[in-house]
Amino acid sequence: MRKISVATGRPYEIFIQRGIIDSCGKIIQSVSSKSQKVMIISDSNVFPLYAERIKKSLSDVGFTVYSHIFPAGEQSKNLHTIYEMYQSLVENSFTRKDLIVALGGGVTGDMAGFVSATYLRGINFVQIPTSLLAQVDSSVGGKTGVDLPQGKNLIGAFWQPVAVLIDPDTLQTLTPHFFADGMGEIIKYGCIKSRSLFDTLEKENAENIIEEIIEECVTIKRDVVQRDETEKGERALLNFGHTLGHAIEKEHNFTDISHGQAVAIGMVMMAKAGENNGITRKGTAERIACLCQKYHLPISDTTPIDNIVRSSFNDKKSTGSAVSLIVLDEIGKSRIYPVEKSEMLDFITKRVKIYE
Ligand code: MG
Repeated sequence: MRKISVATGRPYEIFIQRGIIDSCGKIIQSVSSKSQKVMIISDSNVFPLYAERIKKSLSDVGFTVYSHIFPAGEQSKNLHTIYEMYQSLVENSFTRKDLIVALGGGVTGDMAGFVSATYLRGINFVQIPTSLLAQVDSSVGGKTGVDLPQGKNLIGAFWQPVAVLIDPDTLQTLTPHFFADGMGEIIKYGCIKSRSLFDTLEKENAENIIEEIIEECVTIKRDVVQRDETEKGERALLNFGHTLGHAIEKEHNFTDISHGQAVAIGMVMMAKAGENNGITRKGTAERIACLCQKYHLPISDTTPIDNIVRSSFNDKKSTGSAVSLIVLDEIGKSRIYPVEKSEMLDFITKRVKIYE
């Protein structure tokens, strides 16, 4: 078993092991020994796949197990779904000693985490992420949230889990589309922090060594989050490709493009912009584009660039008159680069004049 310790305000461990779902009861008991009840929060797609095994493992060590299932999909990520989760907890008399298990992808983890952060002013929760994106990114670091009609994750809290259990076997049920979605974030880790990860992704087929890759990505994120838990500085580097990526998702009304796909396009655009503004080493954008294509991710979008830039101004990360962009010096080295909103279109579109 691979074990990664996270020394945040409330420390916890991330466990990576094939088949860990069948021994989750013992691990959860060891991190939350006072709990008697466990509420599994999951969606209608994931719950039927793993619920029986998880319930058995939890009840074998003495927990009383409840479950709350909501309809799968980003459209469920709203305050009504959150309200129903609170209702399930109240109806079953959950106390501060009890525990929530978030079983599923990013939507499930974000919402179950938010409910855990706020129900009775905070109860313990465990993440069991089942998508590649959730395993390498959203289950680690303690960001929880829920969407408003006006934008994604506009409500949320920093709330760390008491453990994260990653079972790479759950990836076998993912469609290629969802696998590619996670690869967008994996490539991002290489771009911002690890040239060797980037090289490995170029040379090998990630699917064949996915456990090692998950461990490396989680370790990178752990290191960043430990140094900057609430995103006052360095944690923003994890947003490479995301300012434009979120804007692209929004321009598509979050329908026909996944987060990982949008981030891939955003990374390529930022690398090109970085090169043409004399910040990023020449050839970087080309390498990122090739790697994205290798893992079946798009590298450009038909949305007019002005619309993408305008949409990006509403990003949570924009402050006042400036937008904090993340740029690369080269593969594996990144930094925060504030650009005035009034100059952003020019900053990004230098590439258009040269490349198109
Ligand atoms: Mg992301």
